[in-house]
Amino acid sequence: MKTISTAEFEKVVLNGGKVVVDFYSTECAPCEALAPKFDSCAEFYGNDISFVKIFRQENRELATQLDVKSSPTVLFFDNGKQVGPSLTGGIKRSELTSNLDSLISPQQVALIKSKIKKTEFYYDTVILGGGPAGLAAAIYLGQAKVNTVLIDRALPGGQVSTTHQVSNYPGFVEPVNGYMLSHYMSEQAKKAGVQYKSAVDITSVNLENKSIIIDEIETIHFKYLILATGASPRPLNIPGEKEFKGHGISYCATCDAKYFQDKEVIIIGGGNSAIEEADFISKFASKITIVHQFDKLQANKEAQEKAFANPKINFLFHTEPLAFIQEGDKMIVNIENIISKTTTTISADGIFVFVGMQPNLDMFTNQFAQDDWGYLKVSDEMETSLPDIYSVGDINSKKFRQITTAVADGTIAAIAISRKLN
Ligand SMILES: Cc1cc2nc3c(=O)[nH]c(=O)nc-3n(C[C@H](O)[C@H](O)[C@H](O)COP(=O)(O)OP(=O)(O)OC[C@H]3O[C@@H](n4cnc5c(N)ncnc54)[C@H](O)[C@@H]3O)c2cc1C
Repeated sequence: MKTISTAEFEKVVLNGGKVVVDFYSTECAPCEALAPKFDSCAEFYGNDISFVKIFRQENRELATQLDVKSSPTVLFFDNGKQVGPSLTGGIKRSELTSNLDSLISPQQVALIKSKIKKTEFYYDTVILGGGPAGLAAAIYLGQAKVNTVLIDRALPGGQVSTTHQVSNYPGFVEPVNGYMLSHYMSEQAKKAGVQYKSAVDITSVNLENKSIIIDEIETIHFKYLILATGASPRPLNIPGEKEFKGHGISYCATCDAKYFQDKEVIIIGGGNSAIEEADFISKFASKITIVHQFDKLQANKEAQEKAFANPKINFLFHTEPLAFIQEGDKMIVNIENIISKTTTTISADGIFVFVGMQPNLDMFTNQFAQDDWGYLKVSDEMETSLPDIYSVGDINSKKFRQITTAVADGTIAAIAISRKLN
């Protein structure tokens, strides 16, 4: 592996051959997450492909020329020409290898795959999921000197890192940027000695023999497992939703309603959470339009009566959103009346989507005691129905899901496990 500067770029990268270039920076969490994967790929693919690193902060002009806007960015070159997509952000090993594989012949790929050594690691505790719940557990376990690794399929931070401002987390007089809040938690856990494996693919989790396989090649054994994989808003899966999440589209009224004082809001959904949250949002917003696919609301009677009596709330029944668009400060929703099939647009200052949440438990099949909505039932110490398997945060059955409730769960599980190990 070579680290090169702008002066060597032409000779090393553009002068033929197959080359992969990692533009990295210091104090860059996604660069740290990429480094071991890049090194490991260099070890196996190194005979066929050259691996080079370029320190972006010292080679800004070259980076700009190559349209490298963030760190890390990985570019692939074949015979002096850039090929394939450039990779940025939380880069997974599978993304790297699929691009590397496309540079060489299937025979070379097969040979490399046959040589890849599987590795094994042993930890007292594995935390699966690096949102506030997992990070709080990590801080306590690290400080208690429990040998702990935190594994996340993305970069650590969780839901909170996607929100621009958090104003209700104790300890911050002024609202704190969500990304920075999770960054502080993550750095605190690292400082306490917790190892990280982030932006990885979870190949399998075996609760019986207490092991997790990541990226198909690393087996991680544990004595205790803390599940902290959170919950995700059930997505509508329509154009614009991903793009404007956290920037015009919100899934959390407690967090974001206050930003809509005297403003207009559209709510998608007609169940309990949509209607109860509409009531809460109406304390701030001047007008709320509820877009609901059925001819009547699904919320309980009391919530419905309150909503119908609220002069700020209007209803569009039999209506489905088709796409979200942003125009200046306004959010536009393309909607369709599902009876008449007519389409039109409505606009507001913000959109809230409440079509349900789902616990992130896709890698397990009915192994745990769960409530009617699929959330995990736990003991007072956050232990699930399976011994030595704990769960914390939004993944748990509970009434209120906030950062404070998530970190409380993480704290309790970590202290319980530390005591058992002692
Ligand atoms: C836009 C928005 C704004 C919010 N604002 C506020 C606020 O202002 N105040 C407040 O108190 N609360 C707020 N919340 C709620 C708060 O963010 C959550 O309650 C909290 O993040 C829950 O923490 P958690 O650790 O349980 O789960 P999450 O934050 O969901 O973190 C789960 C982590 O697990 C990882 N993961 C998921 N599946 C897997 C898997 N299979 N394997 C490995 N890793 C996995 C994810 O990548 C993620 O990093 C907001 C939520 C959203 C969406």
